Amino acid sequence: MRLPVLAALLLAGAPLAAQDAPPARIDYAAERAAIARYQDADQRLQDVGWTLARGNAGFCPKVVPSIGLQLQDMASYGAPAVARRALGLKGDFAVQTAARGSPAALAGAFTRNREIALLERFDPNEWPAGAAMEWQRLVRAHDHIEAMLTEHGGIAIAFADGGSAARVQPAQVCATRFELMGDGGKAVADGARVVIGIGFPAFSYAEEPVFAAVVAHELAHNVLGHDAWLDRNGRQGKNVRRIEREADRLIPWLLANAGYDPEAAVTFMTRWGSKHDSGLRFRMGHDGWDERAEAIALEVAQVKDLMAREGRADWAAHFRREIDPAGGLLRKAGR
Ligand SMILES: [Zn+2]
Repeated sequence: MRLPVLAALLLAGAPLAAQDAPPARIDYAAERAAIARYQDADQRLQDVGWTLARGNAGFCPKVVPSIGLQLQDMASYGAPAVARRALGLKGDFAVQTAARGSPAALAGAFTRNREIALLERFDPNEWPAGAAMEWQRLVRAHDHIEAMLTEHGGIAIAFADGGSAARVQPAQVCATRFELMGDGGKAVADGARVVIGIGFPAFSYAEEPVFAAVVAHELAHNVLGHDAWLDRNGRQGKNVRRIEREADRLIPWLLANAGYDPEAAVTFMTRWGSKHDSGLRFRMGHDGWDERAEAIALEVAQVKDLMAREGRADWAAHFRREIDPAGGLLRKAGR
């Protein structure tokens, strides 16, 4: 779950076009198709991430305003000129995804690859960027959007095609960003982000609630403050085991509040565990998959009961913690 912060984002926009071949030899249709496959996977992640983060906003310790819009920056590719030409862009910034049901999606203006000219008064294309594999500028654009939403309660976004600008008001969501990584088969949560590699096995789960269960496990680490707790209390096996158990047990709660069937949490663990639960390294940080599925099933019963009685599964009030979330805070403060 510890994230190499720089490497993850570095890869986030680089599924292809890594080498600079002479322009004549580049198959732009193939480049475009590769980008589209990457964007399809990102759309899937953003749809599920939005649904979970929005549905649980009432219980998360920290919420932020969001419009559910992901941009792409050509500078983050290994060969920006190739990516730009493959997508038919003049500048560097364009729409990547608008999460299903988000204000950006409901605005109807944020179609994939539509070129961005202004984020409020700022043209992100004018911000300096490195020659290639530059991820910082895209983070800056997303930070800028969030700052505008926080300060002004909305943002106007203008497009390079001259169509009318879109004015969008945010909704409150749990403070986590969801990011697709261009390679790798892991899923990690670093407190502020959930990063999932495009090779992660969960992308093969066709049913959305089962895929959502995987994303919910990672989101659980963030909303329960696990990374910071491990920083303070140590990453030895017994501590990792406790936070992994908590993240598993919170999955059905997060699913239910997002409108998914909480049973999908058990389906995920059974399917994933029976296939991947082998090897010493895995066992050191986790219980066996059958124990994990059982622990999740116990939560499902409680979640269903709460949903029937209260129409929501308030995990901030009812979830049984296995760690003291404030543990180590005093020591950290030097007492
Ligand atoms: Zn985990």
